[in-house]
Amino acid sequence: MAGEPQADCLFCKIVAGEVPATVVRETPTTVAFRDINPQAPTHVLVIPRVHYPDAASLAAAEPAVAADVLREAAQVAAEDKVDAGGYRVVFNTGAGAGQTVFHAHAHVLGGRGLQWPPG
Ligand code: IMP
Repeated sequence: MAGEPQADCLFCKIVAGEVPATVVRETPTTVAFRDINPQAPTHVLVIPRVHYPDAASLAAAEPAVAADVLREAAQVAAEDKVDAGGYRVVFNTGAGAGQTVFHAHAHVLGGRGLQWPPG
């Protein structure tokens, strides 16, 4: 069922504590942890505890939780002190955009200059 944990989902396993992660923030609806393959000095993933395959389906089904993810992204940037210098929040959506884990997540990237357009 939509929103329920998926047995084969890596990020559901991180939410459940079954896969270790360097967790930096937790709320009743979200978990934030450092990316295992960081692309910037700050590279944190903010995920909803509930399972939706991407940000679009999360926002459509549970907009309040999608807002929580955005709020937590800003909190992560502030706590890592990358907010003043500028940071990026990215939701890769679909394999063609580089999404590899199909549990909604925001990348929070900062701590270095970021180019536009992204690759
Ligand atoms: P996507 O490519 O937008 O789906 O992002 C998935 C991200 O998850 C990538 O940046 C990976 O480096 C990251 N990732 C994959 N496995 C783990 C893990 O076990 N812990 C933390 N990050 C992970």
